[in-house]
Amino acid sequence: MMRELEYFLSGKIKEECGVFGVFNVKEASTLVYYGLHSLQHRGQEGTGIAVSTGEKISREKGEGLVSEVFNSEKLDKLQGKMGIGHVRYSTSGGGGIENVQPILIRSHLGDFVIAHNGNIVNAKELKMQLEAKGSIFHTTSDSEIIGHLILREVGEFEEKLMKALNHLEGAFSFLIMNKDTMYVIRDKNGFRPLSMGKLEEGFVFSSESSAFEIVGAEYIRGLNPGEVLIVSKDRIESKQYTESTQNKMCAMEYIYFSRPDSSINNLNVHNSRRECGTILAKESPVEADIVIGVPDSSLSAAMGYSNFSGIPYEIGLIKNRYVGRTFIKPNQKQRERGVKMKLSAMEAVVKNKKIILVDDSIVRGTTSKHIIKLLKDAGAKEVHMRIASSPITNPCFYGVDTSTYSELISNTLNLKELTEYIGADTLNFLSLEGMYEGLGKNICTACFTGKYPTSMFSLLENLK
Ligand code: SF4
Repeated sequence: MMRELEYFLSGKIKEECGVFGVFNVKEASTLVYYGLHSLQHRGQEGTGIAVSTGEKISREKGEGLVSEVFNSEKLDKLQGKMGIGHVRYSTSGGGGIENVQPILIRSHLGDFVIAHNGNIVNAKELKMQLEAKGSIFHTTSDSEIIGHLILREVGEFEEKLMKALNHLEGAFSFLIMNKDTMYVIRDKNGFRPLSMGKLEEGFVFSSESSAFEIVGAEYIRGLNPGEVLIVSKDRIESKQYTESTQNKMCAMEYIYFSRPDSSINNLNVHNSRRECGTILAKESPVEADIVIGVPDSSLSAAMGYSNFSGIPYEIGLIKNRYVGRTFIKPNQKQRERGVKMKLSAMEAVVKNKKIILVDDSIVRGTTSKHIIKLLKDAGAKEVHMRIASSPITNPCFYGVDTSTYSELISNTLNLKELTEYIGADTLNFLSLEGMYEGLGKNICTACFTGKYPTSMFSLLENLK
């Protein structure tokens, strides 16, 4: 099911986009296609690929899944040995084909294309300034801003780019490509992941390292905060667009977004989730017959909980993987049906059992409420809910739609009220200390703490 609909239906968090690029490889468009397939979980609204022959850039894009937008005919049109691609989730700027990336900028500098994962928090101010100076925007996406900033700076392309990046606040992993050079960029706070791999004589870049496997690339390293990799046929060079950096990887990348087979900052996602489940079991023990996880992102944490507690791990919920895309505008009834379409309780496993149900997070509480009802309807005697992250009490401004303050259930209900609302017998969250123990200290936890790692001025402007 389309993740946006899933969000409306079930109250889960919306994703933020993924980027994938290749340099100096045969059949670049086909490799980008496979890479984007592996990143499909990061965005399902639209996708695009741009490829360069060294002389000319061509681009194809469309709304929908990678497999719906591309076929061999379209990929054959994209000739060249370097290319970038994007899967979109419209966290900022809304949907529509014009916002599907890579964005193509035609200019006196020659054509260049942009693929962006993240959210520019000072987008409004920058756009106003740029429009006042005569820039004309062709999309409503904040990703186009970097293109206009580049055009307005002085110097050669690389110099312009380095200067332009210093105007941006917020989260960005960019792949920018002109006809002969690729620029691979990570923001100075390191919010979004971006990895580099090696493939024969060429290089591969991806939002998640798990996408390297499908194209046969070998993981080399993650980019550092503030790093710009310049890749052309003569050189691969690493520069910093700023020295003022911090490492604030989005905690939600570990908790929910990324695939378990990805590694971020040298920490495997499955292992980090499992560790959080282990700590959760230490912090919040409860007597039960079985431990189950909500598929897929909570299974690793459930394994960790089971392993530490000694309570058997079981498959209590089955995910229906073949739910088609639907565009019905959801009301409450459809939301409930949506959860039923997506998940089924295994009566043979859960009937008459005391269950520990592990999930990765609670946003609006609707998912938890429906899943607990599913389990109880299937005969579960008790459901003890354990959440492998802390309560989400603040919105995200860095490219993840964690809703508004009023929609975040942990903001409006205390633990006892929330337990009653979702219908659990008991409920507990992983502590903030537990999250740091499981995921390391170099993470952004602003949606759990309200302590934002960037200037509040831009964030407040963003809210207007
Ligand atoms: S506020 Fe939350 S979702 Fe947003 S980047 Fe920080 S940890 Fe991630």
